Amino acid sequence: MSINRTAVITGSSSGIGLGIARGLAATGMNVVLNGIEPEEQVDPIRRAIEADFGVKARYDRANLMEPAGVRALMAGAEERFGSVDVLVNNAGIQFVSPVDDFPDEKWQAIINLNLSAAFYAIKAAVPGMKKAGWGRIINIASAHGLVASPFKSAYVAAKHGIVGLTKTIALEVAEHGITVNAICPGYVWTPLVESQIPDTARARGMTEEQVIRDVLLAAQPTKKFATVEEMAALAVFLTTEGAASITGTALPVDGGWTAH
Ligand code: NAD
Repeated sequence: MSINRTAVITGSSSGIGLGIARGLAATGMNVVLNGIEPEEQVDPIRRAIEADFGVKARYDRANLMEPAGVRALMAGAEERFGSVDVLVNNAGIQFVSPVDDFPDEKWQAIINLNLSAAFYAIKAAVPGMKKAGWGRIINIASAHGLVASPFKSAYVAAKHGIVGLTKTIALEVAEHGITVNAICPGYVWTPLVESQIPDTARARGMTEEQVIRDVLLAAQPTKKFATVEEMAALAVFLTTEGAASITGTALPVDGGWTAH
């Protein structure tokens, strides 16, 4: 992998995005981290990437709820590193509630961040990738991009949407050396999963232990959380020449969940 390549990974100050950023940096790419955490919280993470892998890492606190934030992130990356060769649309939030109580503003926020931000980032990245004749776009969808669970109407709609977006853009850019794929994780132990357990417990009238055993891992035949490192391994593979013919796919990494 060329040392000169640059990857932008949205929502990479923690969880899956950070794992993918570290995985891509380990192949020699410069990385642009993004998230909403304060600079001082992410700076040690950023510096560790530079020290561990000898690449440049930048942290951009752009808020991707608004198209202008997405455009600023992409423009800043191009300005700093000259190109965006790999785009990983990973930033995402969750909200769990029966549809009749689902707050309108939560629906809108989830659609904005989990779906629309990916559209605006892709729109900004594709011209440079076409010019270079090479690019990799990886959208972090979810098993919930392929199947549904109750009480997650906005999240499941956004994740199904990003799978459709993946296929559409893959077809549009296929002749330009650009691949576009979705990774569909099952449950991965990250702050996003941890924080939805109390709400799920309330919505289903269960204890938090029951939610982990009977809701989260019940869907996952391996009975284990998938890992951030497993997501990174697949993302890294998708950036290699060996993956040049893999495009327009939605790849489950879900311990067998969607085999049901
Ligand atoms: P996480 O909560 O650990 O990280 C979320 C990241 O998004 C953070 O870096 C946060 O700063 C960033 N973010 C939040 N709001 C933002 C905003 N307005 N603008 C920019 N960045 C913002 O989450 P995670 O579990 O690592 O999830 C990452 C992705 O993987 C999400 O799209 C999620 O839907 C998907 N996913 C996660 C799981 C899982 O089990 N953890 C399963 C399937 C899919």
